[in-house]
Parts: sequence; C-alpha cells; structure tokens
Amino acid sequence: MSKKIILFGGTFDPIHRGHIQAAQSAMEYLGAERVVFIPAGRSPHKKQPPVASNTDRLEMIRLAIAGSACFEVSDCELRRPQPSYTLDTVLEFRSRFDRQTDLIWLVGADAVHDLPRWHRIDQILSAAAIAVMYRSGYLKPDFSSCRSVFTSSQIQKLEQNIVPIPLVDISSTDIRACLARGQDVGNRVPPQVADYIRDHGLYR
Ligand code: ATP
Repeated sequence: MSKKIILFGGTFDPIHRGHIQAAQSAMEYLGAERVVFIPAGRSPHKKQPPVASNTDRLEMIRLAIAGSACFEVSDCELRRPQPSYTLDTVLEFRSRFDRQTDLIWLVGADAVHDLPRWHRIDQILSAAAIAVMYRSGYLKPDFSSCRSVFTSSQIQKLEQNIVPIPLVDISSTDIRACLARGQDVGNRVPPQVADYIRDHGLYR
C-alpha cells in the first residue's frame, strides 16, 4: 500500500497554533503518516524577508513539535542558496522515497491566487500533489481562476486535495504586530515558543 508524507513549507516567522492544528487536521484528513515542516529561507512568494533568523525560526519549530511523533522538521531549504524554490525541495524528497510514497505539498487557502505563478509549477505537480487547506479569512479554495494556467486534469487533482480543516484564526503577521506593540500573544503560540520569543527578545 502507498504511504503519504506531507511537506509543509512556510516562513514560520514564528510558528503558531494555526500551523500545528492545520498540520494535524490535514494529516488525519489525508491519511498521511507524517508531516515535515520545512522553513523557507527567503520565500519567492513573499515581498519581505523573514524577521527572525533562520536559526531562531528553526529552533521555534523544533520546540513547537517536540513530543509529536508524526511531526518533523527539515532545514533543507535553509541550507540551499536563496530564494527557496518548492520544486527543489519536492525533488529532494522525491529522490529519498520510492514511487509508492505519495508526497503532498500542503498550503493554506491564501496560496491559491499565487499558485499559477509558482516557479515550475508543472514540474511540482508531476512530482507531488498540492493540498490546499481552508484558512480563516480566505474564501474556500476555488481553482476556477487558474483554468488558463492548469490543465483540466491538474485542476481535478487540486480539487480532489482540498482539505476542509476547522478554522483557526491566527497568522504570524498578527503575532509579530502584537509583539511589536509589547502585547501578549496568549495561546496563539505554544508555551515553549512564547518562552523562546521572550528569552531571545524577538519581534520587539
Ligand atoms: P504571515 O502572516 O507572516 O504571512 P502565516 O501565518 O501565513 O505568515 P506561513 O509560515 O507563511 O504563516 O504559513 C505557512 C503555510 O501555512 C501557508 O501555506 C499558510 O497558508 C498556512 N497557514 C498559516 N496559518 C494558517 C492557519 N491559521 N490556518 C490554515 N493554514 C495556515
């Protein structure tokens, strides 16, 4: 039987409870055996570089997933020259597993409008599936605007991998803004991550 591995890329600046709960729900919904968190160096999809260093973002992920047997972290994108292209990561993981293993690149609904512009999206879709999760504040994933870029079988594959997770209204942008105002972020980040942010004076 084939097994499924979720690759969860992002800036994770910082990782928050929305990421953790989304990864858990997607893993259960898709029947995957594990989720690999993959922090990006400089994302080609974002205008600004990350605020926290690679080391700090990686460490916060490690702290957030410690104790979750199905979650792991890879620093493969941080080790490559920037920007971090999803295709390079997908091909790196593809080379590690046989064809019986399905790779699923997981994104939130905010990524839908950007997908057609992803570097070599055709090759990404040949090597892996892309699963799009519901995200609070965004419309349910709808690929009708991508019809000029994707073939109908690609659209079909994307539609089959829509993940209707429970909504968690948290974003890293809001957390950074809150911390910059000197406010408490409450339970939006795991306690170990909140301690790390405080101890290292991040996002002030
Ligand atoms: P920022 O606010 O800095 O843009 P973010 O909160 O969107 O950050 P990212 O690290 O960019 O966090 O997110 C990584 C992936 O996780 C993206 O595909 C994003 O859509 C998804 N994601 C982030 N937060 C949520 C959430 N609350 N629910 C569902 N998906 C999420």
